[in-house]
Amino acid sequence: MDMTLLCSNDMAKLGCGECNGCSDCCRGMGQSIVLDPYDMYQLQRATKQNFAQLMQEKIELHVEDGLILPALKMQGDTDACGFLSKEGRCSIHDDRPGLCRLFPLGRNYDEEGLRYFLLEDACKIANRTKIKIKKWLGVSALPQYEKFLIEWHDLRKNIQEEMSKRQSDAYMQSTNVQMLEIFYKKPYDMEEDFYMQFGKRREDFCIRESSVRRIGRGKMI
Ligand code: SF4
Ligand code: SF4
Repeated sequence: MDMTLLCSNDMAKLGCGECNGCSDCCRGMGQSIVLDPYDMYQLQRATKQNFAQLMQEKIELHVEDGLILPALKMQGDTDACGFLSKEGRCSIHDDRPGLCRLFPLGRNYDEEGLRYFLLEDACKIANRTKIKIKKWLGVSALPQYEKFLIEWHDLRKNIQEEMSKRQSDAYMQSTNVQMLEIFYKKPYDMEEDFYMQFGKRREDFCIRESSVRRIGRGKMI
């Protein structure tokens, strides 16, 4: 793996000729395409379905270090993503999740912020052309998006550390219920800016979390 860390203004060998009939990274991905709140906002916009409706077929819950988050669901008969068309194209291309946009890049979070690295052999297309990462991602308002990704990453990490420290089923359960409720189940307003909505939800979650942690000092919950 090439761990050269890149920023969104850097070039990387990503161009694959619009995938040229390949749909490998939309198949057999297990529960690895985990969705963040921006993905949920985009999916809600693209499908006009809410969380419960998407859970019927297209997404499922994934557990990672105690934290329960939704992920794209590979379909039983084909082991392909439910949004992959019969022609092998993404049916929600403009609103596809962040991890789909990213592939074959990975994200690295450290004190310098968010940077990217190339998963060298992940895409099988040979002779990939060099493309600027920001163009590859195709996200509008990229600085805001990257700020959101860092905040979301830090929040998840903080919660996972707290879960590991407490080893309390009750805390784990109530925090997961709140995470899902606040960031995924409660429908987003398509008329309002996503980042404003995320900011408010994050604040609500943090107020709830800090009160739980205050209570938690005196008594195990
Ligand atoms: S493996 Fe590469 S060429 Fe195939 S669908 Fe994914 S990004 Fe496109
Ligand atoms: S959402 Fe689109 S790009 Fe992502 S795995 Fe499904 S079909 Fe592929």
